[in-house]
Amino acid sequence: MIFDILTLFPEMFHSPLEHSILGKAREEGLIKVDLINIRDYAEGRHRVTDDYPYGGGKGMIMKPEPIIRGVKAIRSEDPGAWVILMTPQGISLNQGVAKRLVRLSHLVLICGRYEGVDERVRGLVDEEISIGDYVLTGGELAALVLIDMVSRLIPGVLGDEGAPEDDSFSQGLLEYPQYTRPREFEGRGVPEVLLSGDHQAIERWRRRETLRRTLQRRPDLLAKADLSREDMEILEELKESSGGG
Ligand code: SAM
Repeated sequence: MIFDILTLFPEMFHSPLEHSILGKAREEGLIKVDLINIRDYAEGRHRVTDDYPYGGGKGMIMKPEPIIRGVKAIRSEDPGAWVILMTPQGISLNQGVAKRLVRLSHLVLICGRYEGVDERVRGLVDEEISIGDYVLTGGELAALVLIDMVSRLIPGVLGDEGAPEDDSFSQGLLEYPQYTRPREFEGRGVPEVLLSGDHQAIERWRRRETLRRTLQRRPDLLAKADLSREDMEILEELKESSGGG
């Protein structure tokens, strides 16, 4: 998977992409991240990338030409590159969106700054994505979130260090509680079933806890989740035992 990042602050990406799983994925060639400075596509001696808003108002707007030139240069090499504008006005990034994006081979992420990008940039992108209903100072952190969540879905990236199919949201539910050593910590133990070695019993316990946790914390997810008849029965029991049935 290739990620091309159009940004005014390429340095912001260095540390997060150098360490741990993403660092290893880059070393192993599972992901490639190209940092492209939008300023390199700006013209004139001062390579200006922003200007005042027409109509007045506070703040600066990113000029369209450097961004559009950058995108065109990438598309001239790979017409199939999928161009995403990071913006609080885009569709919300979630696990479903990440699963769709991981099927593509080349993502181009445009990071805005200041008061955002000139509206005419929108006409050129394939998609606009937001990482949540809040406003950041720039698209770099949003792009890093997207790179991280998409990369960990690429086969081989997590290696033995995780199973994305068990994670929260991957099947529309929250993950069950997890424990590691010590067996006893400040008077709190580990559920006996997890020590039993009975894999079927452990799977049943995990499913029940997944349903319990989702019911308690994110009941909105249950309406969209793919639930079996057994799941529905467990949920009924859980609701009754919590006095909500
Ligand atoms: N004035 C813009 C608006 O109200 O929609 C917000 C501009 S914001 C200060 C500057 C840049 O940060 C945006 O162009 C975008 O690239 C990025 N950004 C801010 N919040 C974001 C979010 N929630 N998701 C994705 N990108 C975001």
